Amino acid sequence: MSVPAIHLYDTRRRAVVPFEPLVEGKAGIYTCGPTVYAPQTLGNMRSQFTPDVLRRLLIAAGYEVTFVTNITDVGHLVSDADEGDDKMEKSARAQGISAADVAAHWTEQWATDRRRLGMLEPDVRPAASEHIAEQIAMVQALEAQGRTYLIDDGVYFDVSTFPAYADFAHLNLDELEATGRVETAGKRHPADFALWKLSPPDSTRLQEWDSPWGVGFPGWHIECSAMATKYLGERFDIHTGGVDHIRVHHTNEVAQSECSLDVHPWVSIWVHTEFLDLKGRKISKSAGDVLVVDTLVEEGIDPLAFRYFLFQAHYRSQQEFSIEGVRSAGTALRRIVHHAVAARDAVDGAVNQDDPARTQPYRDEFWGHLADDLNTPRALAVVATVARDAQLSAADRWSLLADFDQVLGFGLADATDPEAADDSAADPRIAALLAERTAARAAKDWAEADRIRDVLAAEGLEIVDTPDGPVARRRT
Ligand code: AMP
Ligand code: ZN
Repeated sequence: MSVPAIHLYDTRRRAVVPFEPLVEGKAGIYTCGPTVYAPQTLGNMRSQFTPDVLRRLLIAAGYEVTFVTNITDVGHLVSDADEGDDKMEKSARAQGISAADVAAHWTEQWATDRRRLGMLEPDVRPAASEHIAEQIAMVQALEAQGRTYLIDDGVYFDVSTFPAYADFAHLNLDELEATGRVETAGKRHPADFALWKLSPPDSTRLQEWDSPWGVGFPGWHIECSAMATKYLGERFDIHTGGVDHIRVHHTNEVAQSECSLDVHPWVSIWVHTEFLDLKGRKISKSAGDVLVVDTLVEEGIDPLAFRYFLFQAHYRSQQEFSIEGVRSAGTALRRIVHHAVAARDAVDGAVNQDDPARTQPYRDEFWGHLADDLNTPRALAVVATVARDAQLSAADRWSLLADFDQVLGFGLADATDPEAADDSAADPRIAALLAERTAARAAKDWAEADRIRDVLAAEGLEIVDTPDGPVARRRT
């Protein structure tokens, strides 16, 4: 076993702490997933990338991991303060289609993009709209404890009943009370939050359900508490999300869960990913200029280049996005894949013919960096060294890179050499087929584009996107 004891930065304790599973040999992870009313941006994908690396590391260390990430398809309001429209409802009305269709469309985009970025499939992917009963039950438990109050707008959590409310995010509630605005009539403290929102008496919502308090819909925060508990138990190991969730969403998740379940701590370690910053280019979904995985593909960039790019920054640092940055990550990735494929083919894929005296120090370094609060930039530097270290035999190199790919997720075992001769350049017929496919894609004729891909595949050729456009390469 090369993976040493895993340490992670826990937002709650504000320290790097050892990972100590609640159940020996097992690890449960919950990650706040997408609100499926609009595209999931490359920024959103960074918040899914961190748990993918963490999950793969835990698996490589021998843990049996359960990874749950939810689909928010109801209840996420435009403002965190429980005011404004429901994001799903707003989008569905604007397009004149059902909320379920909006959700299905963007859920598919997110799931496809996760795959294109080399992420493992979630073990459980619960949707909020399919767990209304669980959410109502949790609100009822809080109500029975006297921690809620009912106003015209809905059922609210009374933060004064949970003295530890401010601890998680180090909030100053007195200051918030003095300066915070309370726009909802009857709400007692600016930090009080909706558990169940009632539909306005004079209108019908696209998504609404019966409840003990009247027809309405769940507040956003309660879904994560209810679904995480259902699939991972009343206490679990790791909860992740973006840093923007610390102050409100996760603070509220902790309050609801620790009160209703009578546990502390509800979650052992909270892992928060910093933002991907777009500098000049807007990343916000509402800005209309949306940067998604397809944007990269349109630029001729392999989505895995973006995965490599994400490895280059530590998850607790902001990372600045640029197309050029992702392009050079792609160049570095192609070098690594080239060396890996050459080594793999030289030893017919054997991973156990290495010389441990030469490989073990590299294994210790690579896994040591990842176990040290997911230091991916340092781990990646080890990968680059291994790819080109002339002292290593092909057997050594392939043994190491195949091992590291458990976390890298670059698919090295099946990869073709990206620097191999380009078959399309030599054969005018293949070049013509590629040009037809490019034209079909431009005309959004996906069926024709897929047909051409299948024709080439039948001839043992694979289409690879390069900075100079698509080329066909022979599968090795
Ligand atoms: P949403 O679909 O808006 O609920 O966001 C899904 C996840 O993406 C949340 O965990 C957010 O914290 C995270 N997120 C949103 N924008 C960014 C960004 N620019 N960089 C990293 N994570 C983000
Ligand atoms: Zn959540």
